[in-house]
Amino acid sequence: MTERPAFGFETLQIHAGARPDPATGARQTPIYQTTGYVFRDADHAAALFNLQEVGYIYSRLTNPTVAVLQERIATLEGGVGAVCCSSGHAAQLMALFPLMAPGRNVVASTRLYGGTLTQFSQTIKRFGWSATFVDFDDTEAVKAAINDDTRAVFCESISNPGGYVTDIPAIAKIADAAGIPLIVDNTTATPYLCNPIAQGASLVVHSTTKYLTGNGTVTGGCVVDSGKFNWSANDKFPSLSEPEPAYHGLKFHETFGELAFTFHGIAIGLRDLGMTMNPQAAHYTLMGIETLSLRMQRHVENAREIAEWLEADPRVEYVTYAGLASSPYFDRAQKLYPKGAGALFTFAVKGGYDACVKLVDSLELFSHVANLGDTRSLIIHSASTTHRQLSEEQQIAAGAAPNVVRLSIGIETAADLIADLHQALAKATS
Ligand SMILES: *Cc1c(COP(=O)(O)O)cnc(C)c1O
Repeated sequence: MTERPAFGFETLQIHAGARPDPATGARQTPIYQTTGYVFRDADHAAALFNLQEVGYIYSRLTNPTVAVLQERIATLEGGVGAVCCSSGHAAQLMALFPLMAPGRNVVASTRLYGGTLTQFSQTIKRFGWSATFVDFDDTEAVKAAINDDTRAVFCESISNPGGYVTDIPAIAKIADAAGIPLIVDNTTATPYLCNPIAQGASLVVHSTTKYLTGNGTVTGGCVVDSGKFNWSANDKFPSLSEPEPAYHGLKFHETFGELAFTFHGIAIGLRDLGMTMNPQAAHYTLMGIETLSLRMQRHVENAREIAEWLEADPRVEYVTYAGLASSPYFDRAQKLYPKGAGALFTFAVKGGYDACVKLVDSLELFSHVANLGDTRSLIIHSASTTHRQLSEEQQIAAGAAPNVVRLSIGIETAADLIADLHQALAKATS
């Protein structure tokens, strides 16, 4: 092999994981629309089922189209492996599943996607798991919240909806000292703006529904493993370090080394929880990722221009965008997210809750949608929708106060978006 420099992000977002189809030479990754795969013979089948040989068995576990996407995302994130699943929320459960057990807890940031707050504060209790929420700017509080039953620390890189940016290296240091993995939800930053693994995270989760697919077509999720966490350093992670009865006593960490978490995700997680991504969804997401860097550059450019325009507008109380010099997170964002602070932010409208509702109803180009990371610009009033299950105190802590709307800035012409906001603000505050 000739020596060559490592490929750049733009090359990898198109080529990583993909090669011409061995059967047909098809240049684009085919959609392998199949549930089963023919075994060569009975010995081959037995070896696959024993995890002695890697291959395709059944599409609940693995599928060649999904496998290309897994390798693509793992490469862009700088991980050793990835497991795709049916949604971002599925990915979060898949990330926690090998780590947790009844009585165990996860220490999580108060600034999370509303659905994640609900999943962590309510639903995971049914498994006997719990979450402790703390302000991740208060590193002493994060340390204090970790106890003997804590099995993971969880945060978002750029948090939805408040435009807050996490100091990942500082949080990673705390998780390392406690001998537990840091899981970072990198959905809103994408690997183009942020590499949590390079900043010390052990695991990364994504809602591929958002920027990775990029056009609001399919739901999906992904768990990426850095391969760096030592699951056998203490006795906290028996699913990975101890014999697995469902595979004749196989020890995942001892057998698969740095790929232990990924193999466990497929062989136990997808096998038994069944939160599988289908090959059609993987196809749409692969198409989206090919243009990720171009879209993110434009998303960020538009977001900055619109945030600046809003901040200067007398009908607006404040704008929370870490790309603005007025943001308390500006310096952190410049340092840790140098390519931009994302394209998701909130602003407070003078006139409170009622003005927000009127604004949302008056916009013509922006869509009122509970999604983000689309090519088209979206708006939502979090307090009356995504965050309505939360108390007002939790809403404010999550950056979703009643007088605040969230924008997900698309890649349209910025002047058109500003004109739309201008006319709708006039109606909302008249
Ligand atoms: C949307 C989202 C999720 C949940 O993903 P789904 O694909 O909707 O299940 C999790 N985290 C963040 C930051 C999100 O934006």
